[in-house]
Amino acid sequence: MKILLIEDEAGLVRVLTDLLSRRGYEVASCLTGETGVETAAKRAFDLIILDVMLPGIDGFEVCRRLRRSGIQGPILMLTALGDTRDKVAGLEGGADDYVTKPYDPDELLARIAALIRRASFSGGSELRSFEFDGKTVDFVKSRLVHKGKTLDLSERESRLLRYFVEHRGEIVTRETLLQEVWGYQSVPLTRTVDVHIVWLRQKIEEDPKNPRYILTVHGHGYRFSV
Ligand code: CA
Repeated sequence: MKILLIEDEAGLVRVLTDLLSRRGYEVASCLTGETGVETAAKRAFDLIILDVMLPGIDGFEVCRRLRRSGIQGPILMLTALGDTRDKVAGLEGGADDYVTKPYDPDELLARIAALIRRASFSGGSELRSFEFDGKTVDFVKSRLVHKGKTLDLSERESRLLRYFVEHRGEIVTRETLLQEVWGYQSVPLTRTVDVHIVWLRQKIEEDPKNPRYILTVHGHGYRFSV
């Protein structure tokens, strides 16, 4: 389970990283809201812990930006103020829960476990949309909007792209794609994946011959990178 921690107090980052890694979570941390939003666009996380008081854009704005860019996973806000208005603002901005500082480690761990469990139970919460580089992909309507132009994606291209987005930054093999996107159990030898990648690149890449989003990882498969 991967957690992104967006918090500017280095001491707290150390303590929380230590606490969470001892429980088996893999933790990445960012000291500002801006870098947090960038990191969450590049890699998928199972949960985001977000501090309200940050230099630059605050936690509420970070939360809104994360949701606007299509990130649906659970967001737990850390609020120092114990102020009800803050909690309400956080939840209205799209956070799932909040913990007040100073936090109780056991309570924090329990909330994290509950949020991750709830998110995986409602596994039907498939990604509906995603934004990158001014492009908006609507996975529900299977289309891509870029510079005011709308491009239709086939059902398969849309599912393929969604899988890439949900696993952005990771190397994905052709076998995995055939199983997860095509639903093949035993994997036949086929060029299907590569053919669909060519089609998808023609739709989302500025220069499909020199792709910058769907990268070929020779000998392994592909990696989606934003
Ligand atoms: Ca802070």
